[in-house]
Amino acid sequence: MAQDEFEEVAGLGILSGDAIRTHDSAKVRPSKERDGVVVSVSCVFCGRENEVTVEWAELIIISQGAAPPNWQYDAEHGMFRPYLGCPSCKKPIAAGLTPDECSRLVRAGIAARSLNMQVANQIAAQVQQGQQAQQQTQGLARR
Ligand SMILES: [Zn+2]
Repeated sequence: MAQDEFEEVAGLGILSGDAIRTHDSAKVRPSKERDGVVVSVSCVFCGRENEVTVEWAELIIISQGAAPPNWQYDAEHGMFRPYLGCPSCKKPIAAGLTPDECSRLVRAGIAARSLNMQVANQIAAQVQQGQQAQQQTQGLARR
C-alpha cells in the first residue's frame, strides 16, 4: 500500500521528466528497501537492461543542483550521471537525473514516509552551505 501511494505521488507510472524523454527506455521506481529509487535503463551500446539504485542522499544532493560523490554533471543534457559502467560491455551507463526530477522524487519519498523530511532538509542545507563555501573559496582565489 505504501508503495502504491509512493507511485501515485511521484506519478511514476507516467513519469515524464527530462531524463526520461532523453532516454525513452529509462524507468524509475521506488527501491524495495525504501532507501531510494531504482533507475532501469537499457545500455545504449549492448542493449543490456541495467538497474541503478540511487539513494535518497544522492537524490537530495542532485535536487540542489550539486553532484554527489561519483556523479558528474552533463551540461549538454542538463542532468547528472553516475560514474558507472555497464557490467556487460563496460561502457558508461546512460542513466541521468535532472534536479527537477530529483526534487519530485524526494517530495514523493517524504510523502510516502520512505524518507524523513527533517533528514532531507538537513542534507539539503548541508549541500547549500557547501556550495556557498565553495563559491567563497573561488572568490578568494580570484583576488
Ligand atoms: Zn552494455
